[in-house]
Amino acid sequence: MKEIMLLDPVCTHNIWGGTRLREEFGYPVEGDDIGECWGISAHPNGDTVIRNGSYRSMTLSQVWREHPEEFGNLPYDRFPLLTKIIDAREDLSIQVHPDDVYAKDHENGSFGKTECWYIVDCPDDATLVIGHNAKSKEELERMVEEGRWKELLRELPVSKGDMIQISPGTVHAIKAGFLILETQQNSDITYRVYDYDRRSNGVPRELHIEKSMDVIQVPAKSAPDSVKSTLGLPVNQLNEIYACEYYKIWKAEIDGKMEVEQNDPFLSVSILEGAGSVDGQAVKKGQHLIVPFGYGNIVFEGCMTMIESTAI
Ligand code: ZN
Repeated sequence: MKEIMLLDPVCTHNIWGGTRLREEFGYPVEGDDIGECWGISAHPNGDTVIRNGSYRSMTLSQVWREHPEEFGNLPYDRFPLLTKIIDAREDLSIQVHPDDVYAKDHENGSFGKTECWYIVDCPDDATLVIGHNAKSKEELERMVEEGRWKELLRELPVSKGDMIQISPGTVHAIKAGFLILETQQNSDITYRVYDYDRRSNGVPRELHIEKSMDVIQVPAKSAPDSVKSTLGLPVNQLNEIYACEYYKIWKAEIDGKMEVEQNDPFLSVSILEGAGSVDGQAVKKGQHLIVPFGYGNIVFEGCMTMIESTAI
């Protein structure tokens, strides 16, 4: 008999973090600098713990190692994805991530980082930094050297419910006031390109210009290809909102009941709004869970907004 795994997340403190993860999502963490909730994670920097059932008190990485059948015996040496909620009280630094090939060579065999954002909340008329305006590598290097950030960085208008895929090599930054659910490869490799000349404890945070120049894609992906709205999708069904070589992502709004068959290697579920139940188990906003391989039919009931994902 397969069981749903309810997860206890790990939260992180960040200089740009806030209080919404405690106040709105209910995570029991002190402080006014809570930047991230690692909701579904088997990364050594934040390994989530199973709260119920046969695997109670085990970390996700341990279940992955000892019970690969729960994840369809996927051919990876670690759980492939990481799901986070990010609360940015202040602007995050401008960043870029490497791909698998570069990370393997330069970062001790780590995965690269492809990530996908779902905007849970943001200010009206908000923008995000996604991509850049340099036409060639030479122009990129010159603009960085001369500090022409305003000209270089591309800001795109976005709103609540938008979905943004950040492929490796894409310059990006989350800005103040954004609450984002991020589905990403299980990797923590980030190159900081620019930090608005800010200081942390009196000193600027380290930048990684050389590695950034190695990995930034030139020219950037076009603006219309970067942002997609997910509003107005049919309720009570899994709506696929993105698929790439690493993951598939769905959004589901439950108003009443949804019954689906779980045929994927696993199904990661994050509840972003509302409350209800998953096969009779009560859940509410902020809960993350995994439905294992071979679970069969599963029933979601209540009034909830969820983002789901699986690995390819
Ligand atoms: Zn990133």
